[in-house]
Amino acid sequence: MAKQLQAIRGMHDILPDKSALWQYLEDSIRGVLDGYGYREIRTPILEQTELFSRSIGEVTDIVEKEMYTFKDRNGDSLTLRPECTAGCVRAGIEHGLFHNQIQRIWYRGHMFRHERPQKGRYRQFHQIGAEAFGLPGPDIDLEMILMTHRFWKALGLDGLELQINTLGTSDERAGYREQLVDYFSRNQETLDKESVRRAETNPLRILDSKNPDMQEMIAGAPALLDYLGEISRAHFEQLCGGLDAAGVSYVINPRLVRGLDYYARTVFEWVTTRLGAQGTVCAGGRYDGLVEQLGGRTTPAVGFAMGVERLVSLLEERLSELPLATPHAYMVLMGQEAGSHGPILSEQLRDQVPGLRLITHCGGGSFKSQFKKADRSGAAYALALGEDELTRGVVTVKSLRTKEEQREMTQQDLVIFLQSVI
Ligand code: ATP
Ligand code: MG
Repeated sequence: MAKQLQAIRGMHDILPDKSALWQYLEDSIRGVLDGYGYREIRTPILEQTELFSRSIGEVTDIVEKEMYTFKDRNGDSLTLRPECTAGCVRAGIEHGLFHNQIQRIWYRGHMFRHERPQKGRYRQFHQIGAEAFGLPGPDIDLEMILMTHRFWKALGLDGLELQINTLGTSDERAGYREQLVDYFSRNQETLDKESVRRAETNPLRILDSKNPDMQEMIAGAPALLDYLGEISRAHFEQLCGGLDAAGVSYVINPRLVRGLDYYARTVFEWVTTRLGAQGTVCAGGRYDGLVEQLGGRTTPAVGFAMGVERLVSLLEERLSELPLATPHAYMVLMGQEAGSHGPILSEQLRDQVPGLRLITHCGGGSFKSQFKKADRSGAAYALALGEDELTRGVVTVKSLRTKEEQREMTQQDLVIFLQSVI
């Protein structure tokens, strides 16, 4: 036998058994996005490497060690997107979407990061995210957070905690940075090797460290909130006020700095304790400097991205309660005549009952084996058609999930019945 090939480490197949769950999640989220007037954008999975090194920042986990970067046949350096904000901004500049316009957009798709695979952390994973361009105030930050809050309602997920913080402006951060460097140099002995290096290149990122031995030291570090100017402070207070008024609870986490360099002012995460170390299911914030940094005109922007695999794991906990798209009916066919009439009847039913999910049996076999397949398909009803039914012009309808009596129906009654169950 020929050698079998396997998927690349950290990259997973989503098999048909699982895809209904993914679709349920994607459809629910899409419905909410529609409800807020966000429109979808689809950007390429491959971009020039420079797009990411210029936007995400040279001194970040992603750019330093996680990107899938390679030279193509022309010798150009390309990278599989590790996130989609940079691509959205690139596309927006390229197509003039930011000129005197407000844009509310969303995206979904694969992202790639060469990380150590573990539960909730993969090398190919999926994000759904949204971005709003052209709005500088806290009103849109609030809208974004309220929208994410509504996602959880739509999906029936509870127990997620909203953490928010503000990173101020880059000037405010510069003043704070000095205090932070000073604090870290007084705590040199607690810093790990990477943090010693980052104390010089990007000290704020040390606050984001996952190293358990450093958490106590990090908790004692000075907080940026104390270094904010008037406008940043007011921005943050208005956001908090909006959340209070909407009845959405939150905690202010001064250690929340986010992994990417382009954030300013508002940052937020939704966190759960149910997924172990990989507890952040949604992360976002304001990134007013990015459009300019990538060659566009100064454009305020705010956005977030959700880790779909992590949300799927949470949904799996309540799989049995979810309205997943299983077939409504499975048509069982006995004998040659039924075998040829069945597909025609199925077509007519599909015409007459829009939205009907019907599997027509193929491949023959005994009644028993066909009913087994019907049962395994997850269908609610079996529609049986044999010689006897054919001569009498009826179909036998049998519930596969409840103890309902089986019934014979004419095609006309069957249509009415199917309309009532879809
Ligand atoms: P972390 O601190 O967990 O590495 P991050 O700051 O790198 O997260 P973002 O770049 O903000 O993550 O991505 C947004 C969301 O995408 C994360 O909150 C998470 O839910 C998801 N995500 C990020 N990296 C991965 C991955 N390798 N596998 C699965 N999901 C991921
Ligand atoms: Mg990461």
